[in-house]
Amino acid sequence: MNHTPMIKQYLQIKERHTDAILFFRLGDFYEMFFEDAHCASRELDITLTGREGGREERIPMCGVPYHAAEGYIARLVEKGYKVAICEQVEDPKAVKGIVRREVVRVITPGTILSGSFIEDKRNNFIISVSREKEHYGLAVVDLGTGLFMVTEFAIDDTALAEEISRLQPSEAVVARDSFSKSELGIIFSGIFNITISQQPLDFFTFTQAYKSLVDNIGEEKLTENKLLEMTAAVCAAGGLLTYLKETQKTALQHLNAITVYKPSRFMVLDATTRKNLELTKSLREGTKWGSLLWVLDRTVTAMGGRLLKNWLEQPLLSAAKINLRLDAVAELIKDGFIRYDLKEILSKLYDLERLTGRIAYGTAGARDLNAIKVSLAVLPQIKEILARTSSVLLSKLSEQIEILDELYDLLERAVIDNPPVSVREGGMIKTGFNEKVDYLRSAGKDAKNWVAEMEARERERTGIKSLKVGFNKVFGYYLEVTKSNIHLVPEEYIRKQTLANAERYITPQLKEYENMILGARDKLNELEYSIFIDLRNIVADKIPALQKSARAAARADALMALAETAVEERYLRPSINSNGLIKIKEGRHPVVERVLKTGEFVPNDTDINEQDRRLVLLTGPNMAGKSTYMRQVALIVLLAQVGSFVPADYAEIGIVDRIFTRVGAADDLAGGQSTFMVEMNECKVIVENATAQSLIIMDEVGRGTSTYDGISIARALIEYINRDLKAKTLFSTHYHELTDLDQLHGVVNHTVAVQETGDGIVFLRKVIPGKADRSYGIHVARLAGIPENILLRADEVLNSLEACSPTGQSQAAASVDLSEISAFAELSVIKEEKKDVSSIMRDSEANRLSCSQEPVPWLRP
Ligand code: ADP
Repeated sequence: MNHTPMIKQYLQIKERHTDAILFFRLGDFYEMFFEDAHCASRELDITLTGREGGREERIPMCGVPYHAAEGYIARLVEKGYKVAICEQVEDPKAVKGIVRREVVRVITPGTILSGSFIEDKRNNFIISVSREKEHYGLAVVDLGTGLFMVTEFAIDDTALAEEISRLQPSEAVVARDSFSKSELGIIFSGIFNITISQQPLDFFTFTQAYKSLVDNIGEEKLTENKLLEMTAAVCAAGGLLTYLKETQKTALQHLNAITVYKPSRFMVLDATTRKNLELTKSLREGTKWGSLLWVLDRTVTAMGGRLLKNWLEQPLLSAAKINLRLDAVAELIKDGFIRYDLKEILSKLYDLERLTGRIAYGTAGARDLNAIKVSLAVLPQIKEILARTSSVLLSKLSEQIEILDELYDLLERAVIDNPPVSVREGGMIKTGFNEKVDYLRSAGKDAKNWVAEMEARERERTGIKSLKVGFNKVFGYYLEVTKSNIHLVPEEYIRKQTLANAERYITPQLKEYENMILGARDKLNELEYSIFIDLRNIVADKIPALQKSARAAARADALMALAETAVEERYLRPSINSNGLIKIKEGRHPVVERVLKTGEFVPNDTDINEQDRRLVLLTGPNMAGKSTYMRQVALIVLLAQVGSFVPADYAEIGIVDRIFTRVGAADDLAGGQSTFMVEMNECKVIVENATAQSLIIMDEVGRGTSTYDGISIARALIEYINRDLKAKTLFSTHYHELTDLDQLHGVVNHTVAVQETGDGIVFLRKVIPGKADRSYGIHVARLAGIPENILLRADEVLNSLEACSPTGQSQAAASVDLSEISAFAELSVIKEEKKDVSSIMRDSEANRLSCSQEPVPWLRP
């Protein structure tokens, strides 16, 4: 037996969409069959049924009503599935036999435009990666906003992986078989959850890719961008565009420009550092609360919010560009009126970027046209306010805002203030805009009035006091008479329906008016829809201008947020230098100071440079404030390079090329790595990549292993960083045994002060020159509330250990003298010219061995 014609049609369509769940439109439902049905019923928790399909066994099936489909689709896509929407593309009434069906759009994690997946203040990126001879090409699109960027890398997996990890795309497109599984694993190692779509090689060939780009962007703009010289970039961008056009089945008018960017123009922040510094998410909660963005995000538009997040993740390297932003922020701080006006007016702006996305997609409704209209009304005011400033950047933004008065007037005349969501049911076009709309509307209204007045007329005429005019979908308008009055019903009434208590009638005249009402309504709906489509097309022609204005407004919003933060949090303008000096007076941690009560945060100074003070060894007990201080320095530098004012009374910031962090001890259990292994991996990244222009934060390195190992590794790392990398470094440790390293040129000792009281300590939170000579571990344990008998025993053990060591220090550090250190130094210089982690580990091993020459004190009898 053969399949039924409908199932045959289904199978033909499904064959072309094997990687997606096919939503097959059947009347008012989207149905799924076979394996798709099993999968969808499991994932969406909907009932699995069956359908006769021409064979003996029933075909597994499940379905969702079409009007509620959006939520179901979003849920599947959020789980990483693709959903192909297959519609009936002919009117079922107009055809005999089976109606033609086509896939009208494939929705994927990187192309979904609504649902909980899509956050207002976060871009949803889809990327593509190509490899051409010596380069990787990386293209990035946010389909919702029309952002389209491309870049190239020398074949360097780490740099590519880092950039991808910064973007956190939800989907990546690559040419089929162009990367091996393990290569993909490396490239996407910084992403927790990503859908990888392997596409035909054709999409990514230079000729096809270039053609695809020309279609959307035009030859002229591509030449302007010098994109032609970047083969890998063209292949990635064109391939991605083709994939998007294939899946979205629209022209994607909003992807009409492409920005070529260079990651080397921005400070590099690897995934670990972004996470550790809690730039956009807090470590513990994983939410925005408690992050740097949480403190800074005073943007009032979603576009500004998205931009500010991107700025924080891409601090600048050019002093000139940083100063342009700082000038703009300064101007907005200085003139409170301008800032206030700007905020006020920006808050009336809708998400113009995503609105233009919907216009290009053809999913915008009349409400979206109104949102655009309202936004158009405020653009001139934004332009005018920005023009009032003397900042170069703000004036430039003012110039970029385009006034679209004509479009505003048109929308104002055409669209009703509160239109319905649906665009097919009329009620969108204002009276007075179109004569035919007005005529149909009044014709419909007149007929309705006639019917409404009929009740009174007929009651009067027939003498039936309880006569009623009603309407239902099956019979349309009718006259209802209770059984007791039937004898009064006139002859021309035609009986249509009998109820328990009443009879329902129609009259030819009533039906005539009914036709007028319904006919006018249908015609009106159709007419309104076609006017709406015309309007939408007119708006679509203005997409480039709208996008340009939207981006300028987003920038203004982000700068305004930085200014607001500076005013409210008492931040000051940093001065930017390129001589490597970082000098901060009374610096504060932007997040910790917000969480503490006013006045509780103790500010601290910093003074490091590239010469004699490049590595600060920070000692002090646990809980003293070491991590807070080190992160505070990193965040102040980062903020300055974002172009923000900083939480300090004074700051000179030497531009750094990267910030590295190795902080906290978080087990990567899911990744199968122990605390110590994570720690060492992070150290490896640092020693392999840091330069003399980098800033390194190392918190308690070596804590994850035994004391001797820990001290040895820490010591070897410090020596290597100070001598070979020469990077500015803050290195905290509670191994006070390491403080003799200050004899090396470049290393200085600092400590976080504590005050000893009778039986405990008080944290002063003040970073001062000098070293801690004790760990105070038992005091901290007491503060934490460990029972006294355990603490007494700990004291006993400590005393006996200290008694064993002639200097009162543990044997480990005491036995490593500096002559040995310099001997290691020479040895390692001869042995390896290039940075190599194994050499550090060898140094550390040598340290450890020399430490262990003496018997370990607590093993002595
Ligand atoms: P450590 O790294 O030395 O163990 P932390 O930096 O984690 O210490 O600080 C411990 C706690 O002390 C923080 O959670 C914070 O509440 C508080 N703290 C740290 N620095 C300061 C400061 N400068 N002023 C006030 N409180 C601080």
